[in-house]
Amino acid sequence: MLEALKQEVYEANMMLPKLGIVTFTWGNVSGIDRKEGLFVIKPSGVPYEDLKPEDMVVVDMNGHVVEGDMNPSSDTMTHLVLYKEFPTIGAVVHTHSSWAVSFAEAGLPLEALGTTHADTFFGDVPVTEALTKEEIESAYEENTGHVIVRTFKDQGIDPEAVPAVLVKQHGPFTWGPNPKKAVETAKILDVVAEMNYHALQLTRGDIRVPQYLLDKHYYRKHGANAYYGQNNAKSNSGATHR
Ligand SMILES: [Zn+2]
Repeated sequence: MLEALKQEVYEANMMLPKLGIVTFTWGNVSGIDRKEGLFVIKPSGVPYEDLKPEDMVVVDMNGHVVEGDMNPSSDTMTHLVLYKEFPTIGAVVHTHSSWAVSFAEAGLPLEALGTTHADTFFGDVPVTEALTKEEIESAYEENTGHVIVRTFKDQGIDPEAVPAVLVKQHGPFTWGPNPKKAVETAKILDVVAEMNYHALQLTRGDIRVPQYLLDKHYYRKHGANAYYGQNNAKSNSGATHR
């Protein structure tokens, strides 16, 4: 069942240690088949070197395992909430990559400070509020999804234009049209967080990019008028951003 998607999700999971954005088993990737209403996710707690494509677990939109011998990632319910609430996304990634986690722990959004950021994220990457005691003690992983969705709704952010979030006191989630792209975004997020950290050490001034530079870099790569790269017809973020 969903063998091609399992392979894709497996390969995307294996990119995490290669890209240096995961330590031990602290990360997971999933991908969804919207037609089938099923998603495929990494099993919980299995070291990357032991992982096989057939180990990927198939889960339905109620969080029930449909196929697979192992328990799905403990973060499965967070992925599920994101798939339900962000209906255009095709994949979700969670890591504890150090630079992104540093901002999540400090409770700081990643402000757009340069073109590296603007090439991928059309504005600041938000940080959520901390989960309450009640949210943590009941349905913790599901509530992690809800706090992410709430953050985007409250701040009026389009999840396609800013495909990442920092969950306060926890770490980053990213998403995208497919598992590979969502993993690339997780790496970009961590690189941008590292740059952001250093830039903030060097000044106390307001170094946010102006809107016109953000527009230029984001729309060079995204939407109907994108002209970056070789195949603009396949630009995958749609033309409807803001
Ligand atoms: Zn985590």
